[in-house]
Amino acid sequence: MSKKNRIRLYVNAELNVGSEIVCNEKQLHYLLNVMRLNVGDDVFVFNGKDGEFCTKIKTAQKKKCVLEVVAKFCEYCQSPDVWLLFALLKKDNTDLLVEKATELGVRKIVPIISEYTSNSKTRTERLQTIAIEASEQCRRQDVPEVLPEVDLKKLLANWDKNRKLIYLDESLKSLPCKEQMPKCEAPVAILTGPEGGFSEKELEFLRNLDYSYSVSLGKRILRAETASICAIACWQAYSGDWQ
Ligand code: SAH
Repeated sequence: MSKKNRIRLYVNAELNVGSEIVCNEKQLHYLLNVMRLNVGDDVFVFNGKDGEFCTKIKTAQKKKCVLEVVAKFCEYCQSPDVWLLFALLKKDNTDLLVEKATELGVRKIVPIISEYTSNSKTRTERLQTIAIEASEQCRRQDVPEVLPEVDLKKLLANWDKNRKLIYLDESLKSLPCKEQMPKCEAPVAILTGPEGGFSEKELEFLRNLDYSYSVSLGKRILRAETASICAIACWQAYSGDWQ
């Protein structure tokens, strides 16, 4: 198999050359039934801390699939320390945003409840699974952590002030990306409001934080998920790992 389209799996296990990994049911189904791999085939694995390893399928039975770690493929490389805080969206848009934010290289994903947030239910486990699958696909070696939803004010009450907060403001009163993003090196968090926007009170509160930077993404009002995706991309270009 070419290393270009290598099959990658996130595994929750220690990784050392010589060790073995017993696949869970989902991994077994993917490798043996979907990808139709067999004994001796290559599978690349990563665990979010030790880098990426090449394994070979050692056992390929109906109910048992074992991988043997044969070599280290590359060193661990962590994504930049940028978090995405987003006011909860409808289910499909949340799923899409978690996938795209993972591809774009955020380190943590935090669903937020703000004044005008309409949906207040997340399925953290499902979102974490989406983040794992997107990490496997996009070849990152770490998986962003997805937190359960949290109230915006509560989150900011315990904020580490070394982490700059970039909040997206559609009012046209804020500076554009090219002025704000270069000032915001990691550690940083990007905050997007809900479809109803932030309330005036929230905007005033955000404005008065001494670690906050407001950013405009131009004169068109973007959907919240579009705004989040664009802002992460701009940050990566100006201050992240797209240099
Ligand atoms: N309710 C608002 C739109 C909110 S859009 C209205 O109709 O006027 C949802 C969120 O996306 C906003 O809170 C903001 O954080 C972000 N957003 C959308 N368009 C933006 C833009 N042009 N610039 C900056 N942020 C934007």
